[in-house]
Amino acid sequence: MKIITSMNILRQEIQKHKDSVGSIGFVPTMGFLHEGHLTLADEARKQNEVVVMSIFVNPLQFGPDEDFDRYPRDIDRDRELAENAGVDILFIPDAKEMYPDELSVTMTVHKRIDVLCGKKREGHFDGVVTILAKLFHLVQPSRAYFGLKDAQQIAVVEGMVEDYFFPVEIVRVPTVREEDGLAKSSRNVYLSESERKEAPVLYKSLKEAAQMIESGKMSVDAVVIKVRDILQNETSGKVEYVEAYSFPQLSPVDDLTGEVIIAVAVQFEKARLIDNIIILLNEEGKSACLEQ
Ligand code: AMP
Repeated sequence: MKIITSMNILRQEIQKHKDSVGSIGFVPTMGFLHEGHLTLADEARKQNEVVVMSIFVNPLQFGPDEDFDRYPRDIDRDRELAENAGVDILFIPDAKEMYPDELSVTMTVHKRIDVLCGKKREGHFDGVVTILAKLFHLVQPSRAYFGLKDAQQIAVVEGMVEDYFFPVEIVRVPTVREEDGLAKSSRNVYLSESERKEAPVLYKSLKEAAQMIESGKMSVDAVVIKVRDILQNETSGKVEYVEAYSFPQLSPVDDLTGEVIIAVAVQFEKARLIDNIIILLNEEGKSACLEQ
């Protein structure tokens, strides 16, 4: 595995691969790798000749009151995990490399952000698309891999790729979970012991929601209320949102067909956890649990 910190060297390396082999699979991350990230790398390994992973804690996507400074980092461990996952090129730039100067042209997301995490995390998705536009130009991937755990991120990135004709296929990868159902996340290390015990209820409530819709007993609106009740009663955290939308448009679910996302966010003392489930509602109102 090659470790590259300079964007010029990355460019040269990518050019070499472009001239000789076929597809490049790209896995952008913020590091502190866990099985979720490694599953993205596995998928990329299966479908491409070359796998590039980036590790960059992007300051632009953190708000002033968010956890940029204390975001967990462990580059030595990450290097070993990436190498074992079959990554060919690990790109670890610093902030000066990615943002050498103040940007003279900025990117602003207009759709799919007035709901879920976008409502509270002002500017977050602008930061996400900015760094991804830069990385997509450098890496020139045929496919880029994203986890459905961050479903709104996928929705926004798919919008950017469509609007700006990025020649990359966005591959959605199902959420990887702990045995008790908690979605793996670099931020889980912030949970206290008792919060960690409560945390699987996020997924448990979502699975119950999917079952309630599937059985045809409850409307999506009623299910949202039910999930909020479960989370309020069974966690010490503050329920930030329980919302349901069409996916990936993230518009209100007026017509009960197609893909519907039910997503939750709970603020614990030091960690804010998110999770979601996507169900496919067919013409008869029946549902199938999709992808996760
Ligand atoms: P992050 O390092 O948190 O920015 O995540 C990098 C990529 O890994 C994003 O596409 C995430 O959606 C994905 N990811 C994070 N956690 C998981 C998980 N538990 N399962 C699947 N993908 C994940």
